[in-house]
Amino acid sequence: MPRKSRLKESPDTRPLSSVGEVHAVSDELPAESLLDGPDAVGVFDREGRALKVNGAALRAGAPSPTASPALLNKLPPFWNNEQERERIRGGAFHADGLQNEVVRFPEQGSAPERVYWVSVRGTSSGFVAVAREVTERIWEINELMATFESFVAASDRDPVTSFFTREQFRLLVERETRAAASSGRSVALLHFELDDFQLLNDTHGIASGDEFIVRLSEALRQTGRDGEVFGRVGGAEVAVLLPDLGAEQAAAEAERILTLVSRLPYFSDARTLTLTACAGLALFPEHAKGALELIQATAGALKDARRRGRGRFRIHDPADHERERVDRLRAQAERIRDDLTNGRFVPVFQPIAEIGTGRIVSVETLARRRDDDGKLGLPMEFLDAAERFGYVTEIDRAIIAGAFDAFASGRGRIDSELEMSLNLSALDFDDDRLVADISHMARRKGIRPERVTFEITETAALRELGRVQHFTQALTAEGFRFALDDFGIGFSSFRYLRELPVSCLKFDVSYVQNLPTQLENRVFVRGIAEICRGLGVKTVAEGVESASVMSILRELGVDRAQGYYIGYPSLELPARLGTSSGTFRAFPPPG
Ligand code: C2E
Ligand code: CA
Ligand code: CA
Repeated sequence: MPRKSRLKESPDTRPLSSVGEVHAVSDELPAESLLDGPDAVGVFDREGRALKVNGAALRAGAPSPTASPALLNKLPPFWNNEQERERIRGGAFHADGLQNEVVRFPEQGSAPERVYWVSVRGTSSGFVAVAREVTERIWEINELMATFESFVAASDRDPVTSFFTREQFRLLVERETRAAASSGRSVALLHFELDDFQLLNDTHGIASGDEFIVRLSEALRQTGRDGEVFGRVGGAEVAVLLPDLGAEQAAAEAERILTLVSRLPYFSDARTLTLTACAGLALFPEHAKGALELIQATAGALKDARRRGRGRFRIHDPADHERERVDRLRAQAERIRDDLTNGRFVPVFQPIAEIGTGRIVSVETLARRRDDDGKLGLPMEFLDAAERFGYVTEIDRAIIAGAFDAFASGRGRIDSELEMSLNLSALDFDDDRLVADISHMARRKGIRPERVTFEITETAALRELGRVQHFTQALTAEGFRFALDDFGIGFSSFRYLRELPVSCLKFDVSYVQNLPTQLENRVFVRGIAEICRGLGVKTVAEGVESASVMSILRELGVDRAQGYYIGYPSLELPARLGTSSGTFRAFPPPG
C-alpha cells in the first residue's frame, strides 16, 4: 500500500504560515522570494487572477502566470471550482480572512485525491492565499475515525450505572424474545421513569441527580431477582428484562421497584427529598409478537401510567390508550392547522458564541407557538402531532420565512456577519419544492446563503440517507450549509460526516452537561473536535450553562458554545454594540 510508505514524510504540524505576515510584505516583494518552503503561496488580484505563485504552488499544479495573469475556476492547490474560488476570494475581504478552509482535489485517473488547507487574507490590491497539503493528515484522521467508531460501538455499558446502554439493551431484548419463542417461555419487560427528574436536575444540579441514579442502580443490583437484566434507556429511565416471569410476578416486581425508589433519599443542599417513579409493563408473547413490539408496548404502558399521575404503574392494555391517543393527537393537529393559518408560529433566536473570543457569531432559530395571551409554547407541545399529521414542513417554512424577515429588517442593527441556523425535520426531505422555495425566500430578502446553516439530526439522516443526500446536495449547490445536530447521543456515526456535506457538528446538551463529571465524555469530545478541525468542520457545544463547562470546552478545542450561559432564546436578534469590533460579546475572551 502506498499509504504506509508515504506516512514517513508525515504531515507538517507547524502552524500554517501566518497569512498576516505575508500580507505585510506581499505588495513589495516578488512571490518567488516569498517563502519558497513547503506551503504553496499565491498572490492574486481582486478578481482572483493569479499574479505570482511560488515553487510549491507550481509543483502542486498551479499554472505559471508569467505571460498573463491566469483567472481560472480551477487553480490547484487553491481552489477546485468557481464556487470555491468565490468563497475564498470573498473570505479574503472579511475582517479575519479565512483560515484553514478545506479544499479537495478528488482522485483523477491515477492521481490520488489531494486535500489542502487554504488560508487567505486581503491586501490593498488583491489577496494572498497560502495552501498547505494535508492529504496525509486526512488519512490519519480517517484512521482515527475508524478507531473512534469501534470505540463507540464497543461501549455497551452506561458509564454512570454500568447498566446496558439503550442500544445494547435492545439487542438483549431481541435475543431473549427469540430464545423464549423457540423454547415456549415468556418474557416480561418493565420500563420505569423517575418523576420530575428533569425539574430536580434543573433546580438541584446534575451532580445530585447523577448521584441518585448511581445509588438507585446499586440498590437495584443488590435486591434484584436472579436473571434480571437492567438497561439505562434514558436519562431517568431504566428498563428491566425479567425472563420467565408471569404477569403477576412481574407486576409484583414492578411494585417492589417503585417502593424501592420512594425509600431511597435524594440529598440536596441539606435537604432530603423523596422521589417517585412511574412504570409500565408488557409481556411476551401475550402482548407482543416480537422484541420491537414488546418495547413499544412497555413504553406505551409507561406513558399511560404517567398520564395518570406520579408513582403510577400500568400493565399494557391495547384498548386502554389507543383511542385516547389518536383523539388527542387529532385535536392537536386541528389546532396546528388553525395556528398556521393565523401565523402563530414564530421564530426565537438563541445566540451562539465563538469560544476563543466570546463574540456572538451566530443564532439558532427555534420554533415557538404564540397563544392568545402572547405566551410562547415550546416545540415539545406541537412537533410530535405536526410530524404525525404532516404539518411540520409548513411550520418549518413559516419559521424560515420569519427568520429571514427578522434578519432583513434587523439590517444595520445586527452584525452584518451574523450567521443563522435553522432546524429541519426528516419529513422536509420529501418536499420537492422546499429547496427552490428556500433559495427564493433568501434571494428576495437579500440573505446570503453561506450565512445560513440547516441543522439535521442523525435520526433524520438515518431514515433515508439517499434522499437526505439529494436534498442536502441541492441546498449546498445554492451555497447553504449543513450541521449535524444532537451529536453524542444515538449512534454518533462519523459516516454522516463523510457522506453528507456537513460543515458543522453540534454536541448534544446531555453530552455537554456531563463533561465536568465524565472523563469519557471529555476524551470523546476532544477527539471529535480534533477530527472535525482536520476536516474543516466547526464544532458547537449545546446546553452550556456554566463558566466551568465553558472553560472545559475551551480546553477541549470546541469552536463555539450555545446555552443559557451565553443567552436564552429570544424574540430579538442580538444587537450589534457598536464597539470597535462591532460585535456583541457574550463574555470577555480569556487572558
Ligand atoms: P435542538 O435543535 O437540540 O434545540 C436545542 C434545544 O435546547 C432548544 O429547546 C433550546 O431551547 C434548548 N436549550 C438551549 N440552551 C440550553 C441550555 O443551556 N440548557 C438546556 N437544558 N437546554 C437548552 P427547544 O426550543 O424546546 O427545542 C427543542 C427541539 O425542537 C429542538 O432541539 C429541535 O429538535 C426542535 N425544533 C425547534 N425548532 C424547530 C423548527 O423550527 N423546526 C423543526 N423541524 N424542529 C424544531
Ligand atoms: Ca437544533
Ligand atoms: Ca441539538
